[in-house]
Amino acid sequence: MESLFRAFHDAGRELFLVGGAVRDLAMGASYQDLDDLDFCTDARPAESLEILRRANFRTYDVGIEFGTVGAVLKGKSSEGYPKDVQVTTYRSKEMYSRGSRHPVVSYGNSVEEDLWRRDFSINSIAMDARGNYVDPYNGRGDIERGILRAVGDPLERLTEDPLRILRIARFMARLGFKTDPGLERAAHVKATFLLDIARQRWLQEMNKLLIGEHAPAALDFLARTRALGVILPELVALVELPRRCPAGPVHEDFWALTCARVKRAGDNKVLSWAALLADVGRPWTRHVDPPIEGIDGPTLAGLSASAYPQEPFPGTSVTFHNHAAMAGLMAKGLGRRFHFDTATLDEVAFVLGSQRAALAYSADWADPDVRRFVQEMSGHHAHVIAFGRILQRDPAEGAGGADLDDLEARIAALAARGALVPEVPTGLGGALMKAFGLKPGPILGELVELLKEEMLDGRVGFGLEAADYIAHLRSVRPDLIAG
Ligand code: ATP
Ligand code: MG
Repeated sequence: MESLFRAFHDAGRELFLVGGAVRDLAMGASYQDLDDLDFCTDARPAESLEILRRANFRTYDVGIEFGTVGAVLKGKSSEGYPKDVQVTTYRSKEMYSRGSRHPVVSYGNSVEEDLWRRDFSINSIAMDARGNYVDPYNGRGDIERGILRAVGDPLERLTEDPLRILRIARFMARLGFKTDPGLERAAHVKATFLLDIARQRWLQEMNKLLIGEHAPAALDFLARTRALGVILPELVALVELPRRCPAGPVHEDFWALTCARVKRAGDNKVLSWAALLADVGRPWTRHVDPPIEGIDGPTLAGLSASAYPQEPFPGTSVTFHNHAAMAGLMAKGLGRRFHFDTATLDEVAFVLGSQRAALAYSADWADPDVRRFVQEMSGHHAHVIAFGRILQRDPAEGAGGADLDDLEARIAALAARGALVPEVPTGLGGALMKAFGLKPGPILGELVELLKEEMLDGRVGFGLEAADYIAHLRSVRPDLIAG
């Protein structure tokens, strides 16, 4: 990093480290832990590029028309190198044109001006070559107090760029900070302006939010400020699903449960989204038995807590028939809205639809049961098992559920023996035609499917020769005439 500072200094230019890296350093992170380093300078981008090249840095293009050039800092990997560096010319302010992913830029004249256009005080600190802070908005004070505060007037700053509402939540999730009351009020007022923001940017922020250690507080913030209702209206009914249902406290506060599961999902994107959406189908599938007039039914169930009597109804049962399938269906729609990539979309929807499948495991499953489980999970069994572990730690689950470590070990053992997923030898088709005097046609595919079923159920082995499989077919399909 010194060589970078020196290069700009020798060219007669200013250079400051800014943004997340300075915030993390001020919070006690070590330089080694920082992956992305953002710098700002008074040099225009073409000049920055020249300075970097002259000093032999490897440079790349990130968006020179937006004032940014990229470079790579090399060094010992034990010290966290290589590091990605972005050098951006001072900006005065950036107005994000509606829905666009790229800001319209105008250049600024000083580091103070550059810090002014940034979002929160904790992200608006700069550091010079000697480690001195430039901190005009007392970002370090807010770090100490654990507060997110807008630089300047919160309502103006959120109007300029409503994405900042999600950024508040993202930083709450990551840092465990509280939000300054004025900033939270502004977020409430401006929540609907999130609709002007590109959905890909919602996704970027949500992905970071969900893997944050303090995600539950951030999700509550979104719910309080109406932002949840704007980006994920499906979940609002869950938040509102009253704890006191007609049957008394027989079902839990599913929103609290959801938040706790998101935290347990750690930093796995698929599991985090699945945890967020696992119960999204409940408000729409709740069935109260015997029915209570004006209470059963999704609309009231979801949206009006005050419609509920405050006293339990003894003898009433509540079920959520098919809520997992409902969650899978809803996930498809909202995943598209958020521009999930296809693989993530399929994975999340599948895990939700089969959310409790792994919990059916018990030690008395025979190998065919284990193979059938893997087959039914269509390539998603690892995530379904991992999600089962998250559900198992719900308070209501109690101890002594399915031993998922054992299930995993058995799958691994079958895979190691080549006896997990049925496959037939190449060239079996030709051998079948010859053995049974068949012509090409659907019958060949049917016979292969039959063999795979036989393998799944353990009636014929894995990895045998074509002749062995033909012999087996003769025994199960005596109607086939030998050719
Ligand atoms: P992370 O460590 O998660 O990357 P970060 O603080 O580096 O956190 P980035 O999104 O990478 O966050 O942005 C880098 C810096 O650019 C921020 O610290 C902030 O100063 C500024 N910034 C980014 N996005 C905005 C925005 N929408 N409005 C204002 N300033 C922003
Ligand atoms: Mg960053």
